[in-house]
Amino acid sequence: AAKKEGWNRYALYDPEMGERVAERASLEAELRRALEEGAFALHYQPIVRARTGAIIGYEALLRWPRADGEAISPATFVPVAEEAGLMPEIGAWVLAEACREAAGWPDHLTVAVNISATQLRSGLVIQAVEGALTGSGLAPHRLEVEITETALLENRELALCLLRRLRALGVMIALDDFGTGYSSLSFVHTFPLTRIKIDRSFVRGLGRDSQSTAIVWAIIGLSRSLGLAVTAEGVETEEQHRLLARKRGLDLQGFLFGRPEAPPRGTPGATGPRPKPPGPTTGSETSG
Ligand code: C2E
Ligand code: MG
Ligand code: MG
Ligand code: MG
Repeated sequence: AAKKEGWNRYALYDPEMGERVAERASLEAELRRALEEGAFALHYQPIVRARTGAIIGYEALLRWPRADGEAISPATFVPVAEEAGLMPEIGAWVLAEACREAAGWPDHLTVAVNISATQLRSGLVIQAVEGALTGSGLAPHRLEVEITETALLENRELALCLLRRLRALGVMIALDDFGTGYSSLSFVHTFPLTRIKIDRSFVRGLGRDSQSTAIVWAIIGLSRSLGLAVTAEGVETEEQHRLLARKRGLDLQGFLFGRPEAPPRGTPGATGPRPKPPGPTTGSETSG
């Protein structure tokens, strides 16, 4: 009976699976076209110093405005682009565009750019970073690349070699979404990182769930003793901000301080992306 079922399972046409394959293929084709036509855009989200509320830089986040007006999250299309082998090329565009934009901001502001696992693995990332820096004239220390734990674990030797080369260029390196994987800070510290970003799933539980709270304090404490900068991601409430505000050497990112936004148009190089002061220090307009 099992064999008969097996036969049925694999030989008969499964309309649902056919649909999924077709959807994915059309998404891939659309992504290719978007790349060729220059249809991607970047939005920028502020990162602030916990103790002063001052903006220290922005994270560049990829946006794909589609003709039908439907917004599709990078969390959905980046994995498709990765599998289609498009991420090294899209990523090179992101690097060039983000550096070009940041070169027009005041000198103290940094720009953070996400680097996908396949983009790192392709090895083209060094060329892309060098090209983006020389093309824009941005000082290397004003660029921070964000890498995920998966990218480090996938190919440790290659990752180590590439990150060392990036550091040698003067570029900063952040570990994104820390805490969601299974590696310890002592493992990730074998890589030449300059910053740890605490995943927002832990920040969400701050002050409400003792385990998340303990994890956040532990990551902040250990990162600082290892000489790494720390960012808490996904700060959404005044309560979370209140708990984090006292921490020395901590930076904050989240909807409370500003959502990712398109840079202002028409005055290239003249201004940064709307450096409005973060809500909490000024009090009023922080509904979320
Ligand atoms: P990420 O690098 O961890 O980026 C932060 C994500 O959290 C962004 O989502 C941002 O909009 C969202 N976020 C920021 N503050 C808050 C908050 O207070 N609450 C909540 N709920 N969310 C917040 P987004 O823009 O949808 O990006 C999702 C992911 O897609 C990114 O996570 C990153 O992994 C990936 N991604 C985005 N842009 C790029 C890119 O240019 N290249 C690559 N390789 N990946 C990218
Ligand atoms: Mg990121
Ligand atoms: Mg993150
Ligand atoms: Mg994330």
